[in-house]
Amino acid sequence: MKTYYVNQNAQPNGDHEVHTDDCRYLPTSSNRKELGQFSSCKPAVEEAKKTYSKSNGCKTCCPDCHTS
Ligand SMILES: [Zn+2]
Repeated sequence: MKTYYVNQNAQPNGDHEVHTDDCRYLPTSSNRKELGQFSSCKPAVEEAKKTYSKSNGCKTCCPDCHTS
């Protein structure tokens, strides 16, 4: 299980990226929202979409959930 976070700031394309707690691109604590612990990125992105309908997995830490 890993702890997942969503970036509260949107990317230039409007996506809110979902990260694991060990990602080098994890936003600072004031710019992220904790989603909880999940065994994979897919339920984490689903959780993020409850807050930000345009949520997407980070290409670095969640490549299986990254869509371009
Ligand atoms: Zn990441």
